[in-house]
Amino acid sequence: MATATAPERKVSADEARDVAEAAREQDWTSPSFVRELFLGNFRLDLVHPYPTAAPDDVARARPFLQKLEQLLKTVDSDKIDREGEIPEDVIQRLREIGAFGIKIPREYGGLGLSQLSYMKAIALVTSLDGSITALLSAHQSIGVPQPLKIFGTEEQKQRFLPRLARGAISAFALTENDVGSDPARMTTTAVPTADGSAYMLNGEKLWCTNGSLAELLVVMARNPKTKKISAFVVETDWPGVKVEYRCHFMGLKALANGVISFQDVRVPRDNLIGEEGKGLRIALTTLNTGRLTLPAVCAGIAKQCLKICRGWSNARHQWGVPIWKHEAVAHMIADMAATTFAMDSIWMLASQMADRGGYDIRLEAAAAKEWNTVRAWEIVDKTLQIRGGRGYETAESLAARGERGVPAEQILRDLRINRIFEGSTEIMHLLIAREAVDQHLSVAGDIIDPDADLGRKAKAGAAAAGFYGRWLPTLAAGKGQIKGGYAEYGTLATHVRFVERASRRLARETFYGMARWRGKMERKQAFLGRIVDIGAELFAMTASCVRATAERRPEGTELADLFCRQARLRVRTLFDDLWRNTDDRDVAFARKVTEGRYAFVEEGVVPPPTDGEWVAPWQPGESTAKDVRRRIPAR
Ligand SMILES: Cc1cc2nc3c(=O)[nH]c(=O)nc-3n(C[C@H](O)[C@H](O)[C@H](O)COP(=O)(O)OP(=O)(O)OC[C@H]3O[C@@H](n4cnc5c(N)ncnc54)[C@H](O)[C@@H]3O)c2cc1C
Repeated sequence: MATATAPERKVSADEARDVAEAAREQDWTSPSFVRELFLGNFRLDLVHPYPTAAPDDVARARPFLQKLEQLLKTVDSDKIDREGEIPEDVIQRLREIGAFGIKIPREYGGLGLSQLSYMKAIALVTSLDGSITALLSAHQSIGVPQPLKIFGTEEQKQRFLPRLARGAISAFALTENDVGSDPARMTTTAVPTADGSAYMLNGEKLWCTNGSLAELLVVMARNPKTKKISAFVVETDWPGVKVEYRCHFMGLKALANGVISFQDVRVPRDNLIGEEGKGLRIALTTLNTGRLTLPAVCAGIAKQCLKICRGWSNARHQWGVPIWKHEAVAHMIADMAATTFAMDSIWMLASQMADRGGYDIRLEAAAAKEWNTVRAWEIVDKTLQIRGGRGYETAESLAARGERGVPAEQILRDLRINRIFEGSTEIMHLLIAREAVDQHLSVAGDIIDPDADLGRKAKAGAAAAGFYGRWLPTLAAGKGQIKGGYAEYGTLATHVRFVERASRRLARETFYGMARWRGKMERKQAFLGRIVDIGAELFAMTASCVRATAERRPEGTELADLFCRQARLRVRTLFDDLWRNTDDRDVAFARKVTEGRYAFVEEGVVPPPTDGEWVAPWQPGESTAKDVRRRIPAR
């Protein structure tokens, strides 16, 4: 039984928001293309010319990527999916080629490659096996190396990075039974010892990827006195650390993902990462670049799907013609190719911005994560549809009856989690929306703050009048209205002009939303979601146009053109839906649905398991799910 007193678990919406706000990086010291886009300021100069990879990095990455590809060609992904384990010899060979230290600087024993090369490696692995991707990515996108690189002391880097580069597997432990998207409810505690030399760690973490394999963990825990969250490096062979359970999922069958408990674990102060109380900020900053991996993962999957569909839709004949000749299928194929080009353009742009430095890429990374994960899901769905019954059949079954063992259903199962972890689609919407309205809150925040006194409101009113008086006229006209503007983009110039115009309109609509809903704006998630989706489409269009222009490949320009035509239709619909929708009605209905008014619609089915509660039945004094299990034995 954990000995520390569990902090109060019931957290109000205000408290949850305050915790998230405190962890949020408030300053924008470096420019951000996406942030400016939401302000109606189309800063094309930030992304044009499209950043290119450093030649020495490309040269050093080449032999590694070749070795990785050779290694992957010997791996049986079907077997991994079937047996739910990555063979130890595969992990060992990955260690030997340096795959656990791709981004770790060379002076600490890593390959010292760029974010771009790392993501190319991850996309390559993904095209074969999602579980191996998760192993490598949980270790180096969010596991111990990343926060140590950003926040660790020199001593910590010397102590841990060489070990991690050699292949000591690591993991990131934030989530708890009651802590998903909302970290304010964290119950794992880190209590400083009386002499200040260490912390006593107690609690339990859920769904820790690599948790059941890892030697080292980054653990987020809260000081029950100060309520502040800190981040620690924890060795899994220390007394009191235990893998309680290995979790199993719809896909990623070989994920070494577990529930990990900590019981009176003594963590030396030297293992605190960064400052005490800054753990959530460290976790979120780690995720800022960490979540760049998933857009590359999704682009890798999209490419594989396109390859499958191109081959299949040419070869498969129905009704006397190859199936791609049926318009319904043709539409899907064209959409897949154009979208895959855009997905690639986005992650390459964002990662090269990260490598080049001098940008604040937190919104680019969040937009890339949100947009690419949603698009990949649509593409995989189309892949199953185009493969017909074979899309639903396992690769093993296909191969056993003499057909090509295409693992479309496995790709679908492995992919789905990308819209949930490292910030769900909804949380990405909120994160981006928060920044989209930040400028308004910083000028006019006190006007809508119920706690602000009349003096503060009056001062804010004057400041807002000044700001909006200057800002709104700048949104009226721009280069996108000038015929022949952005001529350097050739046939794509029309789309670049559209982005410039749409960016100003986006800022105006956001302002109208603020003016209409004021303090209640943050609850208008559907409105804000559309604002974010428009911004993400504009970002995707820009990335596609600047890349196609830089690469000067006619095929790339053709794909960028098709993609932009499709995206423009979506943007127009999203703008229309901002003010014509069923949002308020939907929310009112959700209340009635959850109250059970329409439960008759659910009649006629065998209900889901009735034993067990929807939410873990915590009782006072219980600080881990283990305590609950002890009281309520498994049924
Ligand atoms: C396979 C797998 C691997 C994972 N690996 C790790 C790992 O290595 N380390 C780690 O710490 N965690 C890990 N996780 C946890 C993962 O990050 C969480 O599942 C994720 O953060 C969502 O939390 P939740 O599942 O508790 O959902 P909840 O937070 O309960 O959310 C449920 C739903 O409500 C929505 N929602 C919640 N809040 C809001 C809001 N304010 N506005 C709008 N919608 C909202 C969510 O988007 C979601 O749709 C993993 C999970 C899985 C399944």
